[in-house]
Amino acid sequence: FVAAPPDLNLLIESARRFGDRTCVVDFDSAGAERRMSYDQVFAWRDQLVPILHIARGDRVAIAMRNRAEWLIAFLAVMKAGGVAVLVNSRGSGPEVLGMLEDVDPAVVLADSERAAAIRESGFKGRVLDLTRPFDADELARRTAEAMPDPGVAKPTDPCAILFTSGTTGRVKGAVLSHRNVITGLMSTQMSGMVVLGNMAAQMGTTPEALIAQMPQQASLLVYPLFHVSGLGSGFLSPFLGGGKVVIMRRWDAEEAARLIAAEQISMFSAVPTMLWDILHRARIDGTSLSSLRNIGCGGQALPVNLVEEVHALCPHAQIGTGYGMTECSGAIAQAVGPEFMARPAAAGRVLSMVEVRIEAADGTILPPGETGEIVVRGAQVMSGYWNRPEDTAAVLTQDGWLRTGDVGIVDEDGYVFIVDRKKDMVISGGENIYCAEVERVLGTIPGLTECAAFGLPDERLGERLVAVVIAPNIDEAGVIEWVAARLARYKAPTRVAVTTTPLPRNALGKVDKIALRKLWPELSGE
Ligand code: ATP
Ligand code: MG
Repeated sequence: FVAAPPDLNLLIESARRFGDRTCVVDFDSAGAERRMSYDQVFAWRDQLVPILHIARGDRVAIAMRNRAEWLIAFLAVMKAGGVAVLVNSRGSGPEVLGMLEDVDPAVVLADSERAAAIRESGFKGRVLDLTRPFDADELARRTAEAMPDPGVAKPTDPCAILFTSGTTGRVKGAVLSHRNVITGLMSTQMSGMVVLGNMAAQMGTTPEALIAQMPQQASLLVYPLFHVSGLGSGFLSPFLGGGKVVIMRRWDAEEAARLIAAEQISMFSAVPTMLWDILHRARIDGTSLSSLRNIGCGGQALPVNLVEEVHALCPHAQIGTGYGMTECSGAIAQAVGPEFMARPAAAGRVLSMVEVRIEAADGTILPPGETGEIVVRGAQVMSGYWNRPEDTAAVLTQDGWLRTGDVGIVDEDGYVFIVDRKKDMVISGGENIYCAEVERVLGTIPGLTECAAFGLPDERLGERLVAVVIAPNIDEAGVIEWVAARLARYKAPTRVAVTTTPLPRNALGKVDKIALRKLWPELSGE
């Protein structure tokens, strides 16, 4: 049991102790490097707080690419008692405008590109471009005006609004409280800061002396900061533990491999595709990945040959995986190192701060080993979606259980196996086909680099399965045969597009099946 402070800002304040350690490294668009210590980050944040000029509970949107200013913005909003609304920095003008009008923030904190786009789109509210130096007059005026002390948040106060990835339809804003976010951080990784005082006391030393002895973790921020994995495992976890956060502004595998070697990165998390790309680049360029100690990989099933490749190229790294979602403030199951190797096909083991059960379609609770919908309850689960009472009611029960929309199994030991998303299950001629199962088999085709299976409407069958693959030396008939030889015949796709075009992916690197359906219209033909 860990007693968490009620307000995320209290945890953040405790990171001041890391003083002159390097906190953030990032690069501008010309590639010039910026390095800031914890002291510098806090000083910058403290300058921004009065300029925000908000009161407790005000929403503040952050619309920026991954960069140091993003972190400063988030820290300032927490200090001022605001609710951070994390905007997808890749959204189009109308998408972002729609989101801003829905959330109605007191201020938008943006980079130059997005500040211009947001103003152009017709947004009427206050927009601050954080990538320009603060206006000296405004700074003086605002600092002189006494801003009301926001006091300390209640654990149930909203802390941030994070949007889901939109993989299965429209994006929804999950409202996460301070307790949600803090529990999410604590359950995956004991925040170094919280236990530091206790540890120091037990060892008969001071927290400062302990910090001085600890080697600094260097972590590579690969995920977009507006996503729950970027915010939690990418930024807040390493930040609260006194780590160095090396920020990637946009995804680039070659640059990631270079940074791992140059900055002696010890940990990072990514989705499987990104990890593949880094390993591939490192092999080609001969880049050393030997500084890596912890590689987290989740958000999607983890292919077995990827694990082998990690072990071959990263001799000191242990690999871990997790299963989670925006609505749960991050991971609800995790397995690292030996725990992961014991069941590499699992998405993790249920974490101690949540309850997970498996339900049949009629709501019956199923015993271990049986397949049904994964349902979860606990201090990590959101209070609801912003402004969408119907969507909230559809997923959250009266007594706090969240229907994840994922189909899976929990075994006797608490390992979770993801079978598929409910929405990705295809019912063809009365038979259930899990796309994820078919994708796992497609993934074993020699030389295959990408694949996706999905359903299309069909007059006779109701739905039928089709697939898109990127693989050399195989044709449509070959792919169909490959699946039919390994799974029940009805699970083989009826049509397959073999292509070299990379599959469309959303901001987190997940295959965008909605876009896929539009890109390969020929699959709809008979
Ligand atoms: P939307 O809810 O808008 O359709 P999304 O579900 O992709 O988008 P996220 O909250 O980013 O939005 O992702 C959570 C989902 O990702 C989970 O519900 C699950 O379907 C999938 N997922 C997460 N971890 C894993 C994993 N280890 N293996 C398989 N699937 C995973
Ligand atoms: Mg979802």
